[in-house]
Amino acid sequence: MIRNLAQGIRVFTSNAFLVDGETTALVDAGANFDVVPKIREFTDSLDAVYLTHTHPDHIGNVDAVRDAFDVQTWGYDTGNLAVDKRIDDGERIQIGDDVYEAVHTPGHKDDHLCFFSRGAGVCFAGDLVFANGGFGRTDLPEGDRGALVESIDRLHEIVGDDLTELHTGHGPSVTTRPKDDIDLAAKAARTR
Ligand SMILES: [Zn+2]
Repeated sequence: MIRNLAQGIRVFTSNAFLVDGETTALVDAGANFDVVPKIREFTDSLDAVYLTHTHPDHIGNVDAVRDAFDVQTWGYDTGNLAVDKRIDDGERIQIGDDVYEAVHTPGHKDDHLCFFSRGAGVCFAGDLVFANGGFGRTDLPEGDRGALVESIDRLHEIVGDDLTELHTGHGPSVTTRPKDDIDLAAKAARTR
């Protein structure tokens, strides 16, 4: 089961997805709200925290989650203090009941990863794309529109026709033809 613990929270935070099953993991930690009791509503232990990237709104709660659950964090760049363990492009990780492939997708930030499970049809897209053709901003440090477009195209190709659920770093998840939303984002990022 995938739950967005940041749902309905009105502060500057990313979404934070608690995924349970064979392993229990948090995908992005969120920021500026107390995520620990929200995790405890569903589980007493966490096996891992996976970070799509290390912007403050995604990692602000990392220390609180580490302290409360004695858990390590995984991401692309261990040079960032929020990341304990490195995940490479193409590496496979277990989240909940499913195996996900990490897809390095720079453009919004250099260390950005998406996580895609072909078996489950689920993608955690971080701040690469959002519902209705939204896409990650590229006006911050490390932002690069050309790289973002390439990353969206790459994700689009990798998910193929196997995507049924798109969970993004901000805003609502997409469960109706989510590949169309990636398609729209690819077009919008080229023109806007
Ligand atoms: Zn971001």
